[in-house]
Amino acid sequence: MKTFKNILDFQKEFSTEEKCREYLEQQRWNGTPACPFCGSINVHRFPNGKIFKCREKGCRSKFSVTVGTIYENTKVPLTKWFLATYILSVHSKGISSLQLANWLGVTQKTAWFLNHRIREMLTANAPELLEGIVEVDETYVGGSESNKHQSKRIIRGGVGKKAMVIGAVQRNGSVKAKVIPKTDKHNINETLSEFVAPNSIMVTDEHHAYNQVHLNYTHKKVNHRDKEYVRSEDIKVHTNTIEGFWSLLKRQIDGIHHSVSPKHLQRYCNEASFRYNNKKSLQDERFANALANCTGRLTYSELTKNEEK
Ligand SMILES: [Zn+2]
Repeated sequence: MKTFKNILDFQKEFSTEEKCREYLEQQRWNGTPACPFCGSINVHRFPNGKIFKCREKGCRSKFSVTVGTIYENTKVPLTKWFLATYILSVHSKGISSLQLANWLGVTQKTAWFLNHRIREMLTANAPELLEGIVEVDETYVGGSESNKHQSKRIIRGGVGKKAMVIGAVQRNGSVKAKVIPKTDKHNINETLSEFVAPNSIMVTDEHHAYNQVHLNYTHKKVNHRDKEYVRSEDIKVHTNTIEGFWSLLKRQIDGIHHSVSPKHLQRYCNEASFRYNNKKSLQDERFANALANCTGRLTYSELTKNEEK
């Protein structure tokens, strides 16, 4: 991994297309180029260093390191992609497409596209379950816009104009968040079993949807109605940590997006989780973690289908 502590170091490390490509090859293939079409490592590198050809009979595909990544098929040079990835991965809330356009010297349309593609990479896909003391809470996002943009509102049934998100955070650990269609026992239980290891201690508010939590977990409830937000038992019964995450998520959405379509909300949740879970990482680690998610491409038409602008 390359090390850098600030934007000047970063720009030195990634000043040319070649340097960016080498880094991407290292991150993606760990030194052994593999055909993105058939997976074979029996590949030939052309003298220009950039293009490979698969030697497998029946494949023979030509490819570069960007094929199958979010960087594929764009006229934007890798140096700009990398800088944008860097800016978005180290910035605490993300930045608007307009700001990004100014930083990179590209059109706002291009910046919008880069911004959305890079967001795909800023995904906290930590497969491990949360454990220990885990705070769980639900929140509602959106719905505060005026009526004229009704069609762009996030509407997911249940609670009228807002979308529902359930989140779980391990004390001194990671967060996970998911958009759910309805805050009922079924959705809550299903999501929690995806997020949290059995036998963990779970702290929630008194919402009735958490009534079955005790079946799989040790359940502690915060009694909000009595203004008793922190109770001193053997553990501190509060949900301040997850509420802190909600304000991060809300700031991110409010700061940049005037409205959020349901399609994008999960992505914003993932991005906020990435930032939260990487908040102690150094800049080079964050960048590497983001880049590790560069495969899985989002095309322009997918991105703009039924789209907010
Ligand atoms: Zn192949």
